[in-house]
Amino acid sequence: ADLALYEAKRQGRSRYCFFESHLESRAFERRALELDLRRALGLRQFSLLYQPQKSFSDNTISGFEALIRWDHPARGRVSPADFIPLAEEIGEIHAIGEWVMRTACQQAASWEGDPSVAVNVSPIQFESENIVTVVRHALDASGLAPERLEIEITESTLMSNTEDVMQRLWAIKAMGVGIAMDDFGTGYASLSHLNSFPFSKLKIDKSFIQAEQSPRARALMKAILAMGSSLGMTTIAEGVETLDQYEELCRGGCTTAQGYYIAKPMTPETIEHFMRACRAASHHPNLMIQE
Ligand code: C2E
Ligand code: MG
Ligand code: MG
Ligand code: MG
Repeated sequence: ADLALYEAKRQGRSRYCFFESHLESRAFERRALELDLRRALGLRQFSLLYQPQKSFSDNTISGFEALIRWDHPARGRVSPADFIPLAEEIGEIHAIGEWVMRTACQQAASWEGDPSVAVNVSPIQFESENIVTVVRHALDASGLAPERLEIEITESTLMSNTEDVMQRLWAIKAMGVGIAMDDFGTGYASLSHLNSFPFSKLKIDKSFIQAEQSPRARALMKAILAMGSSLGMTTIAEGVETLDQYEELCRGGCTTAQGYYIAKPMTPETIEHFMRACRAASHHPNLMIQE
């Protein structure tokens, strides 16, 4: 019995030790990532990829969404889904977001055919009045026409501090910049949000696009498209991966499509070549370009 008790204690203790050191290493790990993230901007470890948005009406590329990438020297490419939440927590999102806005406007200013550029803006950036200045400066410094810039916000932006946020959105809209609601359908109280601010674009979340085997999701997708058009908003579908999805959206009256079916996010160097190939292919509307 003594032996059994000893064994249990020993195991319990070792389990406890393991647990504690596991927590410790996780906290250490997080702290290390945090320090790296604070240094990343200065070390030029961020870059932007651009994913094309294709217009259904004339089969041309109407714009690109800027998507940030972090090339960490040891970890390799870290996904924005992993580091943006951390950047938001430690306040680093303000500096990173400003860099994204400036870089995207600057790069887009040189694109031939004047496609628009969509920039994701974090809800945390909207907690500061500075977001309005960031947008104005990015436009001024790049010379990009405001009509070619669009910001993408999620519904969580509208959840807190609503009056200040609304005022900042109005100020940006007043510059002529488009405002799209990203991941539409996944947040809370979507419809009241549509009532409180005149978004220029509804970006339908990929969960509605990729669920074609679900009759309910398809019905919702069609309802969102109809609602968008009756409210005078353009609609864009994200995560379009197949021809079936693409055709269904076209039939439903969707304005624009974005997804792997059209092209994956590409480097800024590839855009010129891509646009040229698209113009050449526009004589054959069924020919899709894959990067
Ligand atoms: P998001 O704004 O909803 O962007 C769409 C995500 O879907 C991107 O992931 C894109 O690469 C991916 N995607 C595009 N086409 C397809 C497809 O056909 N199928 C599937 N399964 N996925 C597709 P990514 O680049 O990893 O970005 C993830 C999220 O990180 C973005 O979601 C956005 O919320 C955030 N993010 C990216 N760049 C920035 C940025 O510069 N600033 C901020 N604040 N957030 C950013
Ligand atoms: Mg987006
Ligand atoms: Mg989205
Ligand atoms: Mg999304």
